[in-house]
Amino acid sequence: MNLNCGIVGLPNVGKSTIFSALSMSDAEIANFPFCTIKPNVAMVNVPDKRLDELFELIPSKKKINALIEFVDIAGLVKGASKGEGLGNQFLSNIREVGIICHVVRCFDDGDIVHVNGKVDPQSDIETVNTELCLKDLETLEKIYDKEKKLSRLKKTDSPLELYEKAIEVLSQNRLLRLYSFTDKEEKVLSSLQLLTLKKQIYVCNCDESGVVSGNKYTQVVEKIAKDENCEVLRISGKMEAEIQKIEEKSERDEFLSMMGLEESGLSTLIRKAFHTLDLCVFFTAGADEDRAWVFKRGMKAPECAGLIHSDFQKGFIKAEVYSFESLKQYKSEAEVRKHGLYRLEGKDYEMQDADIVFFKFNV
Ligand code: GDP
Repeated sequence: MNLNCGIVGLPNVGKSTIFSALSMSDAEIANFPFCTIKPNVAMVNVPDKRLDELFELIPSKKKINALIEFVDIAGLVKGASKGEGLGNQFLSNIREVGIICHVVRCFDDGDIVHVNGKVDPQSDIETVNTELCLKDLETLEKIYDKEKKLSRLKKTDSPLELYEKAIEVLSQNRLLRLYSFTDKEEKVLSSLQLLTLKKQIYVCNCDESGVVSGNKYTQVVEKIAKDENCEVLRISGKMEAEIQKIEEKSERDEFLSMMGLEESGLSTLIRKAFHTLDLCVFFTAGADEDRAWVFKRGMKAPECAGLIHSDFQKGFIKAEVYSFESLKQYKSEAEVRKHGLYRLEGKDYEMQDADIVFFKFNV
C-alpha cells in the first residue's frame, strides 16, 4: 500500500514552499520510533473534526491524529524522461507514491523566473503530463518486448494485447488514468506502477487574493481538473508558511476567518489527499489516548487490529464497535450501549469509516 503523496511540478512553481509549510505542521515524530525521516519527507497530521469531537466527549491524556506522508519530488523539467535535469531519478521517485499532488504556478511575479518564460498553467500541465506519458511508454515498451519473447514459450494468457492498447494510448500523449480500461485490465496495469495511472490532485499555487476568488490561471487549472474528474484546490504556499508560524491555534483561526477561509489550504490539501487515496480511519478511545488509525477501505476487523499490534491480529477474538455518529448522538459510550448500538463483531466484519473500536484478543 502506497499511502503517500508526491509533490510534483515544474521548477519555481512553489513546491518547496508548500512542502516546507507542510513540514512545519509536522506530526510528532516521537510516534515513529522506527522511522528515519528524510529531509524530503513530511509526516503530517490529518485534520479530523470527528476526532476533535470524540476527544471532547471521551477526554483522554493525548489526542493522536491519523498521519499521511508527503514527499517533495524535486526536479521535473522538459526532457526528464530522456534524463534531463534529475530525469530518471525524479521519475522513479514518483513511482513510489500513492498519488500525485501536481503543483501549478498560478501567480504573477516578475522576480521569480518561469522555466518557459511565462506563466501558462495549461502548457505547464501538458509539459509535466507529457514527461509522465513518455516514461510510461518507455516502461511499457520494455515490458512488452520481454513479454513477447516469453509468450512464445508459454501457453497461458498473455497481456500483450492490453500492453499494445496502453502503448497506443500513451503514444497519443493521453494519460492512462483517463482511458476506460476494464476492471481486469486495470488490475494488470496497476501492478506495473505506471505513473499516468496514478490519481492526481491539482494544486493551484496562487497569491492571497487568488485563494479566495480565483484568478485567470486557476480557472484554467480548474477546467482541466473538471475534465479529468480530479480534485483541485487553491493554495498560497507563501501565506501557508506564514500561517504555520503563528503558534496559537485561536490566532491562526482568526487570521483565516479574516481572509474569508474556513480552514487553511494545507488542511484542505491534506484532507483531499487522504480521500483521494481512498483511506478511512477507525478510532480507539481510552484514558491514555484517543487515536485515529488509518486503514484501506475493505479491510476486515482482524487486519485493522493488526495495525495497532500484531498480537491483536494473531489473538483476535472479537471487536466491540460503535459508530462515531452514535457517540455524537448519545454523547457517551454508556448511553450508546443503552440504546443497543454497541455491537460485537467477529473476524469477518468489514470495518467502516469512523468506527470506534475496542479489540478483544488473547495470545
Ligand atoms: P519549487 O522550485 O517549485 O520548489 O519552488 P519554490 O517553492 O522554491 O518557490 C520558488 C520561488 O517562488 C520562491 O522564491 C518562493 O518564495 C516563490 N513563491 C512560492 N509561492 C509563491 C506565491 O504564492 N506567490 C509568490 N509571489 N511567490 C511565491
